[in-house]
Amino acid sequence: MQLIFTQAELRTYLTRSTESIGFVPTMGALHEGHLQLIRRARQENAVVVCSIFVNPIQFNNADDLARYPRTLEQDCALLEAAGCDVVFAPSAAEMYPSQPVLTFDFGTLERVLEGAFRPGHFNGVGIVVSKLFHLVQPTRAYFGQKDLQQCLIVRRLIQDLSFPIELVIAPTVRETDGLAMSSRNRNLTADERALAPFIQAELQGAKTALEQGTSPAEVKAQVREAFAAQPAFQLEYFEIADIETLLPLEDHQSGQPAALCIAVHLGKVRLIDNLLLTA
Ligand code: AMP
Repeated sequence: MQLIFTQAELRTYLTRSTESIGFVPTMGALHEGHLQLIRRARQENAVVVCSIFVNPIQFNNADDLARYPRTLEQDCALLEAAGCDVVFAPSAAEMYPSQPVLTFDFGTLERVLEGAFRPGHFNGVGIVVSKLFHLVQPTRAYFGQKDLQQCLIVRRLIQDLSFPIELVIAPTVRETDGLAMSSRNRNLTADERALAPFIQAELQGAKTALEQGTSPAEVKAQVREAFAAQPAFQLEYFEIADIETLLPLEDHQSGQPAALCIAVHLGKVRLIDNLLLTA
């Protein structure tokens, strides 16, 4: 496995390859959620590239950026075992020799959920993913459903900018108690970690209620009440949304697809999760 730090070295390495390239962009502090993407890319491509870059311009909170775990050595060992060929781990100065002036506007898709609560986040995602796609020129790019809105933003980016890339979306990998795996879970205290499965349990409860015909407004009120009774948590949003546009669903018919999306603060850590109701 090659560890590469510069754009120039990456280009030199990849121009030798005329074969299919599977690409997994990450921010490191890798866990099983990331590794399933690497293994899938390994099965489907001749060359597997993983980027590890904590992208400063997608963070709208300086503390969150400062606290984001960085574990490059351990990540490289996990990637090698999962069959990765190339790790691209640039510095911020390497990725942004100057501050980008280009901005992305993803329309209504970025005005809801994460976009509404993290101003500028999807602009930062759009810029870094575009830069990485240009550098790596992958055949397939692998993203996790855990970040559902990001998947839809990247799908838009691929369509609107004609990137010749197949987007592969893999399911959310969870701990045995249901908590969605996340690099930020490492920042939870032991007490917070013990409480964290409540998020997934509430999502499951909301899904069942919706399937049984409870209205979206009623389900949302129940979830808000449940979190209000748990002082360790601060609910940022819980929404029942259209799975394509992520706009809120006012009504829900039996069997209608929907995305149940949540963001919660637990201590100093902000966690997101989602469940899909499929037809
Ligand atoms: P991150 O390092 O958090 O930027 O994540 C890199 C990629 O891994 C993104 O496409 C995420 O959606 C995906 N990912 C992160 N956590 C999980 C998880 N628990 N299950 C599935 N995919 C995940």
